[in-house]
Amino acid sequence: MNAATAQIELQGRQVGFEVRRSRRRRSIGLLIDERGLRVAAPPSASTLAIETLLQEHAAWVLRKLDEWQSRQHPTLTGKAGEQIACCGVWLTLVSDDSADRPQRIGDRLLVGPSALKAEAVRRRVTVWLKAEATALFSQRCAVFSTRLGLPAPQVRLSSARTRWGSCSSNGRINMNWRLIQAPLEWIDYVAAHEVAHLRQMNHSPAFWRVVDELIGDHRPLRAALRRDAGRFLRL
Ligand SMILES: [Zn+2]
Repeated sequence: MNAATAQIELQGRQVGFEVRRSRRRRSIGLLIDERGLRVAAPPSASTLAIETLLQEHAAWVLRKLDEWQSRQHPTLTGKAGEQIACCGVWLTLVSDDSADRPQRIGDRLLVGPSALKAEAVRRRVTVWLKAEATALFSQRCAVFSTRLGLPAPQVRLSSARTRWGSCSSNGRINMNWRLIQAPLEWIDYVAAHEVAHLRQMNHSPAFWRVVDELIGDHRPLRAALRRDAGRFLRL
């Protein structure tokens, strides 16, 4: 399999994309995610055939790219209708007079009163996300420490821009509050990683065995976090 980058104009917009050719492909397929547009094609597919397919699906491609683009930059403005990720679920910010403190109902996060300025909403949402993070991270670390026969560690929130978690030699765990946006499996990977340090203060094979004992094979989760979690740091 080999990959090449190309450009195409779709409805007046320049769109870059990656073409991956593989013998296993029988037809041309389009994939759009946080990395952008990728085309999977059989070795025999011509550039013209790929471009024709992209033109045919131009509206869909542009819409999907925009969706991912807006989700990639969770800068949090505090405006109604904004999408906020919490534990891997997208919540829609709704202005509601009855919510004097943020309240989650299904996939909506109610924040009020409606007269509140966007900046004040943003602050309240951040406080709410941090409270969610404290509760969930403490609970997940307690679950993993119990499994290792250890007392529940003290968990504090950090706002480091470079790391998701750390464990000090006195047994205290710090986890980045921004991780609350990520799916639970990623949160669990970081929690299990730090709890495993209560047993092994290193990254030896013995340490990784403890992590795997807690969450199964850690490698795909570790890779996913490294590859994709950077966007959560923008909040
Ligand atoms: Zn570590």
